[in-house]
Amino acid sequence: SAMTQTITLIEGDGIGPEITAQVVRVLQALQLPLTFDRQTLGQTALEQTGSLIPEATLQSIRKNHIALKAPCTTPVGQGFRSVNVQLRLAFDLYANIRPARSLEGVKTRYENVDLIIFRENTEDLYIGEERKIDEDTIEAIKRITRPASQRIIQAAFEYAAAHQRKKVTCVHKANILKQSDGLFLRIFREIAAQYPQIEATDLIVDNACMQMVMHPEQFDVMVMPNLYGDILSDLSSGLIGGLGLLPGVNRNEEIAIFEAVHGSAPDIAGKNLANPTALLQSACMMLDYLGYGDAAQRIHKALVSVLCDTPVRTRDLGGTATTTAFTDALIARL
Ligand code: ATP
Repeated sequence: SAMTQTITLIEGDGIGPEITAQVVRVLQALQLPLTFDRQTLGQTALEQTGSLIPEATLQSIRKNHIALKAPCTTPVGQGFRSVNVQLRLAFDLYANIRPARSLEGVKTRYENVDLIIFRENTEDLYIGEERKIDEDTIEAIKRITRPASQRIIQAAFEYAAAHQRKKVTCVHKANILKQSDGLFLRIFREIAAQYPQIEATDLIVDNACMQMVMHPEQFDVMVMPNLYGDILSDLSSGLIGGLGLLPGVNRNEEIAIFEAVHGSAPDIAGKNLANPTALLQSACMMLDYLGYGDAAQRIHKALVSVLCDTPVRTRDLGGTATTTAFTDALIARL
């Protein structure tokens, strides 16, 4: 009797359509009251509609407030701004949240990774303000503002408080970028003071990278400006078994777009080789968000069962299974 929830579904480019098809199969197997409104974005959208970000896609997201999005390609060398960046800016999706948790059955150097990165998503070097001083000199602006810093840091602490997390770590380079990252760090300390029950620490980004590789178990919630978040989240995917596993969401208080951290992987596109797990785990985050936590758990258990009890895995995890065969095995265990 639950109301049907409509989700904007973006198949994307490269491996996007292949992994989307498999994730949709898994969701359909659960028979939840969800329907998909299929829209295009990126290279495919450009070819089909003449626009990288069709108005119909924006309207659909505006109406549904929720999207599941596969990776999209921005054509290079034609002066286009990244569609992913544009989409985040169009809806002011200021928080990019990426949980990296060790997955049972995936052998890595570490066992107890369970960290979650809150990446500021609207400013820093991503404002794309570069200028030519002369032929051999280019400058890029790194913008840090109080409102943008405040809301992402607040979101990280709110999450920590709501999920019984013990520690929030701020990552920055305030020793060099004294004003810009200095402001971010100062706001972090102000907000941390409002959450005395949560341990607050900060690390310079280079040290944070070293610590994450040496002792990733020590990290819990992490919050940082845009560029460090981009780099450290790829690093964190390496800790748990690679880009094929890491899910994420871009959101604000009204709209949430769930998407894998990885790109469209043109090197393996169209070959039925891609690992659908990152998009599937993004779909699980979406189910949690929609109040279908039980369904998300069922998918997670089936995933762990395939990885622990069978040799079935995609090539990125050292196996030989196709995208479809891997999903077949998972659906059989739901
Ligand atoms: P972007 O700039 O959009 O991040 P990219 O080409 O730098 O794109 P990805 O597309 O994420 O990065 O690909 C990086 C590497 O990881 C590629 O070798 C790709 O094949 C691999 N990869 C990414 N996603 C997956 C996946 N789901 N399954 C298997 N391999 C993947």
